[in-house]
Formats: sequence, structure tokens, C-alpha cells
Amino acid sequence: MDNIILIAPPAAGKGTLAHMLHEKYALPHISMGDLLREASSGDSSEAKSLAIEMQSGRLIADDIILSLLTKRIMMPDCEQGYILDGFPRDIDQAIAYEKLLAKLNKSLGKVISIYVSEDVAMKRVTGRMICSNCHTVYNAYIEESQPRVAGICDECGGHLEKRSDDNVETFRIRFQTYLENTAPLLQYYEKQGNLYQVNNDISKELAFNELEKIITGGETND
Ligand code: AMP
Repeated sequence: MDNIILIAPPAAGKGTLAHMLHEKYALPHISMGDLLREASSGDSSEAKSLAIEMQSGRLIADDIILSLLTKRIMMPDCEQGYILDGFPRDIDQAIAYEKLLAKLNKSLGKVISIYVSEDVAMKRVTGRMICSNCHTVYNAYIEESQPRVAGICDECGGHLEKRSDDNVETFRIRFQTYLENTAPLLQYYEKQGNLYQVNNDISKELAFNELEKIITGGETND
């Protein structure tokens, strides 16, 4: 299967959709945010300064990003394709990624833009809760995404947590960062003929349907 890049503003549901793709097609889901959170969870001074940078909502330096990504996509489970979530975030990262792919003899695959309006994204961010055990995502403000028991994961009984960067102030910075740095990537990939679009303003089921058509070749990119 082709490699997939998901591009979206914060809280567009790309993590959820990537997880659904992973479940159905057994493609590894590489979340740059998760790789960074893992790298920032230790006690070293590098881990601590990484954690502070991430809480600010700013983008992390490219050398850190590329080194984490390179290690991950060289793992054997990525040989048959993978889903990239949260990378690349700007044109510089896109160019660095193309060089990396050439070196590793891998191809870019399909780039899928997930649309969501700023209002819907804000609601998703401020209500979002994630299972500390299996990473299933819930939302306190969206009825169909609430857990059956408050604070407890339906899937595994794990404890639900809020991400420390899921607040209104950080959301605004992250949304602005997306518009300035990441949105230009859409044009970049459109010019290359690799860009596909999915709308996730209404429901994740509809969005997933659209996604499936794209990755299985049932949809054209014109
Ligand atoms: P996410 O989980 O994708 O929302 O990412 C959380 C935070 O990790 C972001 O606000 C950035 O600080 C950082 N981050 C994630 N992906 C990247 C990337 N590709 N380049 C730089 N920083 C990133």
C-alpha cells in the first residue's frame, strides 16, 4: 500500500482517522506528536527542554524531528507502507523528507488534507481526553464521542487524561502556526499532483469513507 501523509489543522481528527486506518489496513500510524511526547517524557535535560517547547505550541527543531522520524520509518513494520501524522509541517520539512525518502529508496505516496473549520476544531481541543493506556480519543462536549463512564476508557478501562497543550491559548497559537507554516504545503503537494482532500467537519465515519476511497484508489485527485 502507498505511504500516506495526513495534513490538517490541530484537532481536525487526523489522529483518530489515522488510528482507524491503522486498525483496518494494519498500516503503522506514526504520530510525530506521540514520538515527541515519548522523547520528552524522560528526566534528561534534553527531554525537559523538549517538553517545555511542546507546551508552548511552537514547532520543534528539524534536526530532532528528522532523527526521530528516520529511526521510526526504518523499522521493519514500515516496509509495506505507513501513515504519517503531523509531519511534514512546513516546506523545509517536506524537502528534507524527500531527500530522506530518496536515500531510503522509499516513495512519498499520497498526501491527504483533512479539512475542519476553526470552530469545530476549538470544541474538539477543549473537550479532548485520551486514554493513557490505549490512546483512544474521546470528547467531553461531543455526544457521540463521550465515554460511557466519565474519565474511563470504553475500550480498555484505562484512565482518560487531558493533554497539557489542549487549552484555548495553545490552540490559538497552534492554529496560527498551522496557517502560516503548514497550509502552504497543500499548494506544494497539489502542484506535484499528490494532494487529496477529505472533509472531517461532519463526522469521522463520513471522513473515513472518503479516506478509504482515496487510499484504495476509488477516487481521483482532480
Ligand atoms: P501534535 O500531537 O501533532 O499536535 O503535536 C504536538 C506538538 O509537537 C506541536 O505543537 C509541536 O510543538 C510538536 N510537533 C509535532 N510535530 C512536529 C513537526 N513535524 N515539526 C515540529 N514540531 C512538531
